[in-house]
Amino acid sequence: MKIYNTLTNKKEEFVPVHEGKVGIYVCGPTVYNYIHIGNARPMVVFDTVRRYFEYKGYDVNYVSNFTDVDDKIIKKAMEEGVDASEISEKFIKECEKDMHALNVKEATHHPKATEEIDGMIEMIQELIDKGYAYEKNGTVYFRTRKFNHYGQLSNKNLDDMMAGIRIAVSDEKEDAMDFVLWKPKKEGEPSWPSPWGEGRPGWHIECSVMSRKYIGDTIDIHAGGEDLIFPHHENEIAQSEACNGEKFANYWMHNGFLNIDNKKMSKSAGNFFTVREIGEKYPLQVIRFFMLSAHYRSPLNFSDTLVESAKHGLERILTAVDHLRDVLAEKQAAGAESGAAPDAMTPEDQKNVEEAKALVAKFEASMEDDFNTADAIAAIFELVKLSNVTADHGSAAYVEYLLETITKLCDILGIITEKKEEMLDEDIEALIEERQAARKAKNFVRADEIRDMLAEKGIILEDTRAGVKWKRA
Ligand code: AMP
Ligand code: ZN
Repeated sequence: MKIYNTLTNKKEEFVPVHEGKVGIYVCGPTVYNYIHIGNARPMVVFDTVRRYFEYKGYDVNYVSNFTDVDDKIIKKAMEEGVDASEISEKFIKECEKDMHALNVKEATHHPKATEEIDGMIEMIQELIDKGYAYEKNGTVYFRTRKFNHYGQLSNKNLDDMMAGIRIAVSDEKEDAMDFVLWKPKKEGEPSWPSPWGEGRPGWHIECSVMSRKYIGDTIDIHAGGEDLIFPHHENEIAQSEACNGEKFANYWMHNGFLNIDNKKMSKSAGNFFTVREIGEKYPLQVIRFFMLSAHYRSPLNFSDTLVESAKHGLERILTAVDHLRDVLAEKQAAGAESGAAPDAMTPEDQKNVEEAKALVAKFEASMEDDFNTADAIAAIFELVKLSNVTADHGSAAYVEYLLETITKLCDILGIITEKKEEMLDEDIEALIEERQAARKAKNFVRADEIRDMLAEKGIILEDTRAGVKWKRA
């Protein structure tokens, strides 16, 4: 299996630290709002990487954190006059709902920064003891220049970086490149006691601590969006390698950015979309499929036209699978009546099975070439074509083989092929009425619960002036 490693800028054969096992750490979201559609890309992409490793028989330890203490969370809490934990807890729950709707598997470990403060204090102390960090007025800094390999991931050189930095006279740091490991408490902010006074950790330290605790000193794969390469991942390497004296991560994987209509997504440009908003327009399974139809390292352009085209592609696969299920049921029933052997394949079937096997091999070869999901999907389309042409004339055993094969490959991509149980119109309408009543009574928790429940069943609600309209996704 080959993986493009940002550390070496080339595709490398994957060799695990421990045979048969793979430890993957993916930097998770900062939880101060609903996750946006860009945040969903690393979630979907690296969940697919995980699924492929599982398919290959690896024992996968998948760790992804929630950054639940941060300036943005504190700012939002202050604006709303609530505790920071109220904001982060709410958005962790909302993020989990979105991940579920995107069919992202639950992580093996999903640590929260605020629950790992002791470990962070320990690592910062170790860094101080080893001479890699120092304290000034309640702030602890990492002594960047002392770490010889700084800049190896982002291909930056400290002196070039310095050229772009203006050094403030009041700066208490020994060097402008030093970064914060611990900062002192400010009024109204969450804080924890530490050897350097009340305060809170800087952002980078949490990932070094969590990956060591849940995976080990050296992890197989560290992943995240490409914006994290510098400074976040560069700083993680410096902290971890200075502290542990071991290589931090063997393979670094970074996803490209998702843009909207070829423009950077931003609130001020008015082209910023949450997963929740997009989920009202499209089933999130379509969004997952759309994201996997491009290579994870390329930029991904999100537009209605492109998503519509992904939707049609996915429908083609799902229709073929439905058809296979129907044909299989018919053939099995007919076989039971005639008493024919259920597992007999004709020579024609066997020839087709060989063709299908070659397509499975093509799917695997694509995935093993740095997770080229675009080509892997192309192999599924070829299987669908083969199925559409041959299933009707094949034996029950052959149809069953096709059904299992296509379903298995879809499952690696996290695409669900089972039909959702359809809700009856009157049940949907009764729930919509209950939601309206809940909203009137300002019971927004129940109202949201009903909307989520309907969304799960593929029912999309639209609030219009004429009342609530609904449609099946
Ligand atoms: P954040 O909450 O900003 O730390 O982001 C969580 C994850 O989403 C990180 O891995 C980011 O690199 C990634 N990310 C943020 N914006 C985008 C985007 N527009 N496209 C792809 N990935 C993104
Ligand atoms: Zn991180």
